[in-house]
This record gives sequence, C-alpha cells and structure tokens, in this order.
Amino acid sequence: MDNRTKKIVKDVLSLPTAPYHEGVVSNFIRDFADKRNIPVKSDPYGNLVARYRKGNGVKPVALAAHMDHPGFEVISGNGRTGTAQWFGARDPIHFPGSRIIINSNGFEVPGRTTSSLREDNTFDFVANRTIQVVDSAFGYWNLTPVEINGDRISTKAADNLASCAAILATLDRLYRSEVNANLWGVFTRAEEVGFMGAGGIVEAGTVPKHVPIIVLETSLALQGAEVGNGPVIRVGDRTSVFDPRIEFNIHALAQELERNKRGFRYQRQLMSGGSCEATLYVLYGMAVGALAFPLGGCYHNIGKRKPAEECISAADTVGMIELCTAIAMNPPSGDPRTALRKRFERSFKTRRSKLQDC
Ligand SMILES: [Zn+2]
Repeated sequence: MDNRTKKIVKDVLSLPTAPYHEGVVSNFIRDFADKRNIPVKSDPYGNLVARYRKGNGVKPVALAAHMDHPGFEVISGNGRTGTAQWFGARDPIHFPGSRIIINSNGFEVPGRTTSSLREDNTFDFVANRTIQVVDSAFGYWNLTPVEINGDRISTKAADNLASCAAILATLDRLYRSEVNANLWGVFTRAEEVGFMGAGGIVEAGTVPKHVPIIVLETSLALQGAEVGNGPVIRVGDRTSVFDPRIEFNIHALAQELERNKRGFRYQRQLMSGGSCEATLYVLYGMAVGALAFPLGGCYHNIGKRKPAEECISAADTVGMIELCTAIAMNPPSGDPRTALRKRFERSFKTRRSKLQDC
C-alpha cells in the first residue's frame, strides 16, 4: 500500500461514528472532496453524493458505502454518569464492564458500561471526566482506532469506514489522473439500524434508476472469500442476489485486471454473512452490484469475552481501489453479455441439427 493510500485509510478509519451520528465522517468527506474540486451534495436525509465528472457523454456509475458502525447515543447525563441507547449489533455479555469512548462536542472521553443492556437497548455508563455537552453526544467501544501490521489492518470500525476510504481513494485517483469518468461516490447513514439512509436514497431519488449502484461492504470472511485473497465481487447477500448484468461486467473487468495488473487478485462469492444495502436497492428496482472486503477479527466488535477490533487486509484494500477505479472508467451499461449470447447462438445454429437428427 503506498503512503498516499495508507494516509487515506488511516484518516478515515480513525473517524468517530455511530448510527445517526455520522457528522464527523461526512465533514471529512466534504473537506476531502473540496480539496479536489469534487462537488458534494447532501440529500434531505444527510446522505452525501460526491460527484467526479470529466469528459462528455461518459456513462455514470455509483459506488456506495454506509458511514456508520454500531454504537450508542447518550440520552441523559449528570456529571460523569449517564444513560445511553445502543444502535446496531452488540452482545449483551459486554454489559456491564466494557470500555467505551464517549464523543461529546468533538472531545473523546473514555468510560465504561455500568449496567446490563436493558430490553430497550439502554444502559448506564460512567465516564473518566464530566461530560460537558450531553446533547448529541454519542459513542462506541474503546478499541484501537487503526493499526496496520504487515498486511493486517485492525480497526474499531472496518464496517464500513473501510469502504468509505476505498471510495475516497478512488475519487482521489480519478482526480489526480484527470481521466474521463462520471463517478458518484454515495455515502449513506444509519445502515446498522435497518438501512435507514439507503431508504432515504430510494425515497428521495438521490441516485436515479439509470445510474448503476455498486454497494461496498465489509462482510464476514468465508470459504472462497478469505481475508488477503483479494476484494470480493459479491454476487449476493443473505437475502438477495444482485443484477447479473452488473456482476458480469465487474467480473469481466476483474479478469482483465488479473491479466494485466501484476499482483491483482479477486474473489467472487455470495457473501451470506449478512444483508447489505444492495438488497434494499434491489427491492426498488435499481441496477445493483456489490463488492466486499472479507472481514476477519471480530465482526461488529463482538469478541468472545470483550469487544474487539475488526480486521481487513491491506492488499485487499489496494485491490478494491484498483477494481473501483476500473469500474469508474468502464461503467456498466447495456447488456455486457451480448457477445457471449452471439457466440452461443452461432454454436447452436451450426450444431442443432444433431439434435434434430436423433
Ligand atoms: Zn456494514
């Protein structure tokens, strides 16, 4: 991984985030795009679209990722103690006693959970210092923000800041090489509580149906989608399979990269470890594809005894950016399988007589 990519990955993975509290991530994205003259628009739900556009008549394609990760919102507080509500995946065995970070007005205050997780997902906590501003305070497990050790990237929230980083690195590459492309970088909110931001994308028409949308996620590694063996072309998730035309297109690009780019590897798999926003877009008739980082470590920080980091591979990250750049420069359009169909039809016409003879 070159230093430029490493910096983007480290910067993004260090950002604080939780469902409904993606403000720091979205501000980072705005700044990042501003510095590269890439315009950013927000929809009524706070989802962002950063649009790199160069050249006339270039077909658009969207790369999408959610900005949140399981975490909590402070409901009330008094001095150093307070009550919060957890959003997204968690294991009740981590309450009480686990270490947390409370983010209040931009300041990070360490603390720990002091009660069990109640049925309404609320719990009590104590902080090391007084929480100055309770309003809009939020938090997450106190884990290593990001650490790169050889090929292993350990982080508090690979899901899904790693995908946000990959999209930003792709935008950065397009900007620096000034290539013709029409890429929509789409960043959504509150995925971990049931695709709320993606619901906003559908409702507000933030990404029109003629723009193919490719959802990036981290997804539990499984056989055929292992950490370090390359980014995964995700043909489906636990709930749905995605558009075969888009998948065919991405697959062809990946095969070409494998032939022409030294060291590029990819995998192709149905990632059934969870459902992703692509499933929601499928429900509303959008043209959907998906890519995934195989995820190691503790998915959603659910460690055996205590919360723990998620892990991805640095090589997979580089490969993911490579593949995303290729997709931006060769956006899926029409039916890419036409040539294959023609080949089959030729073969069928010349050989069908044997069926008719017998
Ligand atoms: Zn996710």
